[in-house]
Amino acid sequence: MRTSTPAFVLRRIRWSDSSLILTLYSLDFGRISAMAKGALRPGNKFLGRLELFGQTELELSRREGRELDTATEASVISHNAFLRTDHSAFAGAGLFTDWLLAVVSHGNEPSGPVYRLTGSVFSLLETGAPPWPVICGGVVKLLQLSGLGLSADACVACGNPPGEHPRWSHSSGGILCEGCVEQGFPVKSGIVSFLARAQNSDLEPLSRVRLWQGGYIQCHSLLKEYAQVHLEHRLALKSEKVMKEILDGTR
Ligand SMILES: [Zn+2]
Repeated sequence: MRTSTPAFVLRRIRWSDSSLILTLYSLDFGRISAMAKGALRPGNKFLGRLELFGQTELELSRREGRELDTATEASVISHNAFLRTDHSAFAGAGLFTDWLLAVVSHGNEPSGPVYRLTGSVFSLLETGAPPWPVICGGVVKLLQLSGLGLSADACVACGNPPGEHPRWSHSSGGILCEGCVEQGFPVKSGIVSFLARAQNSDLEPLSRVRLWQGGYIQCHSLLKEYAQVHLEHRLALKSEKVMKEILDGTR
């Protein structure tokens, strides 16, 4: 079947001297893999059109039951060149990609909202927005869209506001107020209010929220542990270390 879909290029693996295998998140098929034959050959039609983190209108040949599609044509929708040239934007796009591929497995139902979320994260990073709040906010939304949403604006047990000394419980799904604490651990109110905002606000205003030194690193660790409990597997977030090294977690 010949078809086409807009897609983000999330991974590029060299398959042979001239070909690439791409991991993509597409609007119409969700997460897919595709072979781009000849993509590394000089002067090839794919040259510059299947760059990492780029958004491309892709023509595909798909076969029922096959895991690997074949890319037949590509035209660029957004180059997102800054994501490949700026250190912190690159690390941020890499970390969101790690999350996306950890949460959305091959064969998942396509999701327009996940596709658009990926677009928002990449375009904010492309314009130089601070990576940590974009990633932490994007991850909160990604978890929400994947049925793993957390609650940070109301106690998961009784629905009351969190109060001044909330505790966090991964297995309960978020915060517990002072009246309901039987489990969980203390969590900084700055993180709770960031997470509550992330549930309800757009990414763009969220990207301007500053936390204290290391605040976003703590926030990200909390999200990672939370996701690991609910996904029941460890998350391989390769770009996390780079992000921690180059950005102090305030913004
Ligand atoms: Zn409560």
